Amino acid sequence: DVQLSDRVNSIKPSPTLAVTNRAAELRAAGKDIIGLGAGEPDFDTPEHIKDAAIEALHNGFTKYTAVDGTPSLKNAIINKFKNDNGLNYEANQILVSCGGKQSFFNLSLALLNDGDEVIIPAPYWVSYPDMVLVANGKPVVITTTQAQRFKITAAQLEEAITHRTRLVVLNSPSNPTGVAYTLEELKELGEVLKRFPNILVATDDMYEHIRFNDLPFCNILNACPELYDRTIVLNGVSKAYSMTGWRIGYAAGPAKLIGAMKKVQSQSTSNPSSISQVASQAALEGGNACVDTMVVAFRERHEYVVSALNEIEGVECIPADGTFYAFPSFQQIIDNDDRFNNDIELAEFLLNDAGVALVPGSAFGAPGNMRLSFATSMSILEDAIGRIKAALKA
Ligand code: PLP
Repeated sequence: DVQLSDRVNSIKPSPTLAVTNRAAELRAAGKDIIGLGAGEPDFDTPEHIKDAAIEALHNGFTKYTAVDGTPSLKNAIINKFKNDNGLNYEANQILVSCGGKQSFFNLSLALLNDGDEVIIPAPYWVSYPDMVLVANGKPVVITTTQAQRFKITAAQLEEAITHRTRLVVLNSPSNPTGVAYTLEELKELGEVLKRFPNILVATDDMYEHIRFNDLPFCNILNACPELYDRTIVLNGVSKAYSMTGWRIGYAAGPAKLIGAMKKVQSQSTSNPSSISQVASQAALEGGNACVDTMVVAFRERHEYVVSALNEIEGVECIPADGTFYAFPSFQQIIDNDDRFNNDIELAEFLLNDAGVALVPGSAFGAPGNMRLSFATSMSILEDAIGRIKAALKA
C-alpha cells in the first residue's frame, strides 16, 4: 500500500466537481438528471475570441512563452486594470497563470509558512481552504448569517485576526452567495486592515463583470487605496468570457510577491497555454458587448430563480448582486422532514428523487444552504425547480 503525504491527506477533492461527476454518472446510467452544480457559464466562448486562437495556431504560436505571460497579454491586463478598476501596475506586478485557481495556489505557496493563518469568510469558494492547507497554512473561517447577507463585519474581521494572520481573502461578488460588498462596507474592512500592516489582502474579482445592478464595480483597493502595497488582485477570463476550459487567470500585486509566485509557477506548469493567452488578449481587448449579452440572461434567470425558490415552503433565498449562483437556505425543510438530516443528505435526496444536482452548502462552509447554478436555460430551470418542489412535497 502506498503511503501518501500528510499534505495530500489533509485535503479533499473539489466537491463541486464531485457533484458534476456524480450527475454525469447517473446520466450515463440512463437517469434523467438536471445538473445545476456546475460553476461555469452555459454560453459558448464568443466567436472573436475563438478566431484569435485559430489564427494563433495557424501562425505557429505554439511554443513556450515567458513564464509570467506574453508581454502583449500582460499589457492588455495592465490596460484592463487601468480602465476598469482605476488601478496602475507595471509589467513586473502582473502574473498570468493557468486559471484563477493556479493564481491562488501560487499565492499560497509563495506567501505562507507552516501555521500561518489565512482568514476566509464563509460561505467561501470551496478551494481556498484546501489550497491554504496544501501550503501548510491554517484556514481561519469567519462564519456569517443569511441575515447579514453573508458578509463579514469589521468587528468580525478584527476578532479573527491574531499575530499569526498572514492573509485575508475577499471574494465579491461571491461564489457561492452571489453577494457583493458595497464600497462603504469595504471601507470599514479597510479601516481594520490599515491597523495591521503585516497582513496581506487577496481580492478575488473573478465575477466582476457578472453583476445585476448598474453601480460601478469596487474592490478593497477602490475603497482603501492605502492597501495597494499589500493587496493582491485576482481575476481571470474564465467566468466573464465563458472561457473556463481555456485556463487563464491573472494576478496583480507587489512586485516581490508576484516574482515569488512566478518562481513557483516556473517550477510547476511554466507558462499557461500560448494559444489561450492570445485568445485571452482578444477577450480583454475586444470590448464587453459579449459579456453584457450573457449578463442580461443571468439577470433574468436570477429574478426567476429567487422568486420561484421563495415560493417553496421552507426555502429562503436572498437576492444576489451578481454571479450565476443562488444560495437558498433549506434549513427549515431539513429540520422538518425526516427523509434527510442535513444538506448533504438533502443533496443526495434531490439527486435521486428529483433528478436535480445541487451542491450542498457544507462544501462552502455553510451547512443548511444549497448552491444552485443558473447557468442554464430558463426552461431547464423551470423544470428543475418544479421537480424540487414536487419531490419535497411527496
Ligand atoms: N475564484 C472564484 C471565486 C471562483 O468561483 C473560481 C471558479 O470557480 C475561480 C476563482 C477559479 O477560476 P478558474 O481557475 O477556472 O479560472
